[in-house]
Amino acid sequence: MVTIRIPTPLRPYVGGSKEVTAEAGTVDSVLASLVYRYPDLKRHLFNDAGKLRSFVNVYLGDEDVRHLQGFETPVPDGAQLSIVPSVAGGRPTIALAHEHDDEAEGAREEVRLSNAEIRRYSRHLIMPEVGMQGQKKLKAGSVLLVGAGGLGSPAAMYLAAAGVGRIGIVDFDTVSESNLQRQIIHGQSAVGKPKLESAKARLLDINPFIRVDGFEEPLTSQNALRLFADYDVIVDGTDNFPTRYLVNDACVLLGKPNVYGSIFRFEGQASVFWAARGPCYRCLYPEPPPPGLVPSCAEGGVLGVLPGVIGVIQATEAIKLIAGIGEPLVGRLMLYDALDMRFRELKLRKDPDCPICGAHRTIHALIDYEAFCGMPAIDPDSTGQSASRPDVPEITVTELRDRIAAGLPGAILIDVREPQEWEIAHLPAARLIPKGELPSRLGELSQTDEILVHCRSGARSADAVLFLRQMGFKKVKNVKGGILAWAREVDPSLPVY
Ligand code: ZN
Repeated sequence: MVTIRIPTPLRPYVGGSKEVTAEAGTVDSVLASLVYRYPDLKRHLFNDAGKLRSFVNVYLGDEDVRHLQGFETPVPDGAQLSIVPSVAGGRPTIALAHEHDDEAEGAREEVRLSNAEIRRYSRHLIMPEVGMQGQKKLKAGSVLLVGAGGLGSPAAMYLAAAGVGRIGIVDFDTVSESNLQRQIIHGQSAVGKPKLESAKARLLDINPFIRVDGFEEPLTSQNALRLFADYDVIVDGTDNFPTRYLVNDACVLLGKPNVYGSIFRFEGQASVFWAARGPCYRCLYPEPPPPGLVPSCAEGGVLGVLPGVIGVIQATEAIKLIAGIGEPLVGRLMLYDALDMRFRELKLRKDPDCPICGAHRTIHALIDYEAFCGMPAIDPDSTGQSASRPDVPEITVTELRDRIAAGLPGAILIDVREPQEWEIAHLPAARLIPKGELPSRLGELSQTDEILVHCRSGARSADAVLFLRQMGFKKVKNVKGGILAWAREVDPSLPVY
């Protein structure tokens, strides 16, 4: 028998298991028996043509099967197969110590530490691996953090404490109460204020000897190259696929290292994508998952300490890159499972056909990443301000209130959220059918009833409406704004989350 490790986002489709077993054989036969046993898994792993989706990678031990014999690779008894999907976050290039750039080294020579800085950094200075040289490099170094959220919070705080001379932050969000469970750079007093403001104040309180630059704007194809150009290292703390691909491509075009981290529920990933030294994010995941297939943290949740672990790994890598010490996480993907308390490492290889860092690259400039990913960069479910979609018929919460008051004649109200969300708050008139279970529970729905669908903010239920219409249900409507709109406009006593 062989073991197949199932990542968190796909566990609902295998009855919640972390691992399942299958007969030994080839990668092909093992995966075939897996989707035969768990049919709901199929559309997550394979496209309509039966090809493995390109945002899913399969590893035998720590090797990507693409670098072995692909689907023909034998999987012997006792072997472990892992499914690793992508999860839902100016000056001359890099004056990094690795480069041995004389001019840059010269510039660093001019950096001096004051007596106060020497006192502050004494635990670094007495280590031979860092020492005065390393601390000066950190002072002369610069890191741009994309996002001051879950990953950016701990990363920024440790970078500041370590004495990285210039820290840039791109973020235009405001602090909300639901951020405080993990975004430890912000406190209660910052709720409602710009994240940039509270992050900057906190960083300068940790270390007044550094400079903090704030960019209160969304990262776009128009500003990314300009913003990145001035920094040595980019730390990707984003939570959405369009921005991830944008960060990757801008880093590849500028030749900068991209310190990657991503989190979902209990699992995290980290790596350093640096096209000059190894693979880039596109080598690992050539394409993003289709919209709605991988839930966001706002939808799927995240353990509060998880971004702490991953963000600190990112800070560690940024510090090592700037100080020129240690072995960077280039060509390796670190996987962390908080529930098992286990780290695993997978090998990453450069894809010779990579469209941006391969030999015959087809991408020479930044593109429209929202179009490429087929989804907005701002997760509508995280803002609670889901935009209407023209192809989805809607009903407002006040209309719904009146329909419910009349006893919902000829209609049924479905809540497609998860059971734990239902437990926080639900509408008594609704029936719970989590979005993932919808395909297997269509039998509970009648073609003649009108079907009204709601979720938290209206994004997931819009996907569900489109799905139901594809399945032949004609009278389906999305409840605009979801239960959040209900709490806002109909019943303010309802808890919001
Ligand atoms: Zn690449």
